Amino acid sequence: MVIDFRSDTVTRPSPGMLEAMVRAKVGDDVFGEDPSINELESMAAGMFGMEAAIFCPSGTMTNQIAIKCHTQPGDEVICDESAHVYQYEGGGIAINSGASVKLLRGDRGRIVAQQVKEAINPDDPHRAHTRLVCLENTSNRGGGSCYDFSEVKKIKQVCAENNLSFHLDGARIWNALVAKKETPKQYSEVFDSISICLSKSLGCPVGSLLLGTKDLMKKARRVRKVFGGGMRQGGFLAAAGIYALQNNIERLVDDHKHARQIADVIAKKDFVKMLLPVETNIIIFELNESITAPALVKKLKDQDILGYAIAPNRVRLVLHLDISQEMVMKTSQIINNL
Ligand SMILES: *Cc1c(COP(=O)(O)O)cnc(C)c1O
Repeated sequence: MVIDFRSDTVTRPSPGMLEAMVRAKVGDDVFGEDPSINELESMAAGMFGMEAAIFCPSGTMTNQIAIKCHTQPGDEVICDESAHVYQYEGGGIAINSGASVKLLRGDRGRIVAQQVKEAINPDDPHRAHTRLVCLENTSNRGGGSCYDFSEVKKIKQVCAENNLSFHLDGARIWNALVAKKETPKQYSEVFDSISICLSKSLGCPVGSLLLGTKDLMKKARRVRKVFGGGMRQGGFLAAAGIYALQNNIERLVDDHKHARQIADVIAKKDFVKMLLPVETNIIIFELNESITAPALVKKLKDQDILGYAIAPNRVRLVLHLDISQEMVMKTSQIINNL
């Protein structure tokens, strides 16, 4: 049996989720007639206290639609240097929005209000027009780190004072909410748009949602069509999303507990130079000169444990709902014996 820690995207739909999918009522969503998609969108919007939502095939698409809606070509976007919107969306900000990016060096993927303030260009024709700030919570490259909500509010203040839109890449917002005991509604009070993923820790096969005002989502619907993201009988996928929102959020505490259990074993190994604090479901550690990340990943693979070398000396393991306590015990043993 292979235990796959490469990402929380590797989960397969559970029997309950599959049953919900098969039973879904569907229609043509480009005509706005898919009852399951409509239900998912209003359900997610309601949870976050946002006016509206739009269902998309991926988190890349929801982020890119948001950036497109908030900017004009030539505008500048501020984000952390490790941000998914910049690093892992194929250069989409330049391609789709014709915008430039100002990267800030945050702490484990998290930037602070003072940095944002200093990064805003003056109103000078030489300079790009600063228009949007994007945060990522939890931060993927930050090892699943969570923002302190008081800092998010301070950044919002800077955005408000400088007429900047504020977008959240909440691919793993559920992990942050559970870990920090926050509510989704807190987030709608500060962000103009929020992207949430169903295909990461919530265990859906496909799907993300973009949340915002009715006006913004109207614009988003047009951009989604342009990007080729208008789906027809997508209700089968939306039904998985509804099931996930109803069943798979609270259990995230287990993933977080499992991550800490494995991290405790990793921390004691002599080949480990540094372990990022484990706040949610991601473990990232750095190796010393005794072994490279690809070599360690290979060693683990030989024992049916899959991890991911995210840098020549960094390994990432991600917990998710297809990894049981038993698998965590087995993995801990194997790592302990390395
Ligand atoms: C996975 C992820 C996304 C979206 O990825 P898709 O694979 O396009 O759904 C966005 N942001 C972060 C931080 C992610 O980890």
